[in-house]
Amino acid sequence: MPESSVTELTPPGNEFEDGDEEEQEQEQEQEEQEEEEEDDAEPIEPDHYYSGTVPVFKPTMEQFQSFPKFIKKIDDYGMKVGIVKVIPPPEWYDSALPDVAEKLRSIRIRQPIVQHINGSQGVFSQTNIEKQRSYSLPQWRKVTEESDHQPPARRGERRKGADSKLRLSPRKRQRTMSSVPDTEFENFDYRFNASEFTPERCEELERIYWKTITYNNPMYGADLLGSLFTDATKEWNVARLDNVLNDLGMDLPGVNTAYLYFGMWKSTFSWHVEDMDLYSINYLHFGAPKQWYSISQKDEKRFFNIMRSEWPDEYKKCKEFLRHKTFLVSPKYLADHGIKVNKLVHNQGEFVITFPFGYHSGYNLGYNCAESVNFATERWLQIGARAKKCKCVSDAVDIDVEDLAYRLKMKKRIARRIKREIEEKQNSGVVAAAPSHEGKSGAFSCQTSETPKSNGSPSWGIASEVRNGIAHGSGTPVVQPAIVPNERQRLPAVMSDTGPELLSRQRTQDVSNSSTIGIVDR
Ligand SMILES: [Zn+2]
Repeated sequence: MPESSVTELTPPGNEFEDGDEEEQEQEQEQEEQEEEEEDDAEPIEPDHYYSGTVPVFKPTMEQFQSFPKFIKKIDDYGMKVGIVKVIPPPEWYDSALPDVAEKLRSIRIRQPIVQHINGSQGVFSQTNIEKQRSYSLPQWRKVTEESDHQPPARRGERRKGADSKLRLSPRKRQRTMSSVPDTEFENFDYRFNASEFTPERCEELERIYWKTITYNNPMYGADLLGSLFTDATKEWNVARLDNVLNDLGMDLPGVNTAYLYFGMWKSTFSWHVEDMDLYSINYLHFGAPKQWYSISQKDEKRFFNIMRSEWPDEYKKCKEFLRHKTFLVSPKYLADHGIKVNKLVHNQGEFVITFPFGYHSGYNLGYNCAESVNFATERWLQIGARAKKCKCVSDAVDIDVEDLAYRLKMKKRIARRIKREIEEKQNSGVVAAAPSHEGKSGAFSCQTSETPKSNGSPSWGIASEVRNGIAHGSGTPVVQPAIVPNERQRLPAVMSDTGPELLSRQRTQDVSNSSTIGIVDR
């Protein structure tokens, strides 16, 4: 898409056709932007760099307060290395983070994927098979502690859970689980002592991971719609992140509504960039660390070409084949091909943010739970307008960026107008109660005469709609029910009967081919 399509957003013949008014709006926008820039003058710098490359930020509560401002300030760092880590200030844990124990009781890890990894010498591909059953968290933890799903113990130590097979036979276990759901939480503590995961141990496990990657077939409870945050968390609440995707006017599962991920040793996410080249944020609620890899944006093209030469047939079938999240190469393989991989260990209580054009991959080091969502900035609108899409997955995410940009522009104008009107009234002596129109996320609810008029173009139509999984917004910001692009997505859910019935988007990896889906009974 040409650049001009994003900068020229006002449809012809709309209500802003008055030249003077348009000029006035533009002047005000300019002024506002300058004010904002002044306001943002204080830079935020990394506290240190993980493994010498990945920026790690330790913001103060003041810096942490505004998510959009924080991202704006660290954007240049992320746009170089692909990923960054953010360690929240201590006050945030103390005041903003309620205990998740109660919420976890209603979690159901429905149809986790069993990951089969094939290949050799640093080049692998991943096949996922859905397991046709669901797990409560205590059940899930028990599986992660089975000897098959534990890394080898450190020298001189006994492997954790090595005797777990003796506890119950799989058959018995299954029966027990379905019949006594209430008592299983009695002696269950979801928390995890991660102190054994020292940097040295993580490096040791990294060597073991790549040596034994094709063994064990880990399970991954991935892409499960839901959140462990509550409304008590005002800042950096992954499920309610202050960002421009809130103005899509509809819910796109996993894109602007959060997903949960329940991991175990070796559960893997293959190399990919986000749909629509969006940003993503990942919070590790509890458990063992997540190992991350990223490719610096300057190496993006070279990385792609290496992957393309390794999988020429896949590339022929889909130019965006890496968006299938199926292809895995080791850091050593990439180093041998002249590409440096940035490494990061993500611990519980920390955020990792991925940036546009920064390829990333990784795996979990043990039992854990993470929550993530995509997000976007105003700067991203230019990127999103040109994002390439995979067309071979029926439910691939697509966003009408032009429409989104138009909505944002209108929202700002409406907020400005209201502010102006109030000021005028106050100046003329009429004291009016200020309506709560001011621009927070989702506040495009002032459907007055300022609601942009339709100019006949379908993307500015009256009702929001979803066509083939494409989010077409409109001037009327009605929040639509989650999208159900295909049959598969109606199946899994996170919460139990006490929680909302939830949907899943395209799963972390390739489960779209129904011929690969089968029942695995361990
Ligand atoms: Zn594709």
